[in-house]
Amino acid sequence: MTVFHDLLVVQDHDTAADRLRHRRQTLPELAELSATEDELARLESALGEEEVRASDAARSQRRLEAELALVESKVSELDAKLYSGAVTVPRELQAMQSEGDALRGRRGSLEDEVLEAMAARETLDGQIAALERGRTELDARGVALRAAVAEGQAGIDRELSDGLTARGVAAESIPADVAALYEQLRARLGGIAAAPLVNGRCGGCHLDLPATEVARLRKEPAETLVRCEQCERILVRP
Ligand SMILES: [Zn+2]
Repeated sequence: MTVFHDLLVVQDHDTAADRLRHRRQTLPELAELSATEDELARLESALGEEEVRASDAARSQRRLEAELALVESKVSELDAKLYSGAVTVPRELQAMQSEGDALRGRRGSLEDEVLEAMAARETLDGQIAALERGRTELDARGVALRAAVAEGQAGIDRELSDGLTARGVAAESIPADVAALYEQLRARLGGIAAAPLVNGRCGGCHLDLPATEVARLRKEPAETLVRCEQCERILVRP
């Protein structure tokens, strides 16, 4: 056993930790949570729009009801005057009757408009209630997903922490210059800095080394650091 065999153990721990960190960032619940949050944002915005429309509809209903009340009071006023006997001139009576007819016509169409406004409000209120139910469901889903994410991440964190401890033990024997080269290569070569040499093949780039190179490496002392001439990784001889 050489320090390079320990380096391979360190590499295995680092590769496993990289995979765990990747898994931590790509938990399926995280994607679901993000989709749920997007859906919630869309729903909130739709709800906001519906609430504006509902408040416009309520205002318009109140305006129509006020106008209707005014027309109704004019009709009663006119009727009272008509039947009081105070007006006797036929032309005036006729004028009052046609004003009364016009007011009653206006009252009829206002009543229709009030009914329409009420129906519109009811529709909007129904839509708002449905959106609010949807929001409640999405909120609950978000809470459940956040809990699942936290649980999944906690499990991964425990594995990461155990792996880090084991890595620390394996790394104890590795000289600082080898460790520095290892880290530098790891950053540059997709996380793999040390690879075993198996049957003349580099375990990092998976290319066969030329036979002359294999023969040369065989002659190098076991404690000499050797590297793959193709991918530059530290080669660990059996
Ligand atoms: Zn290689």
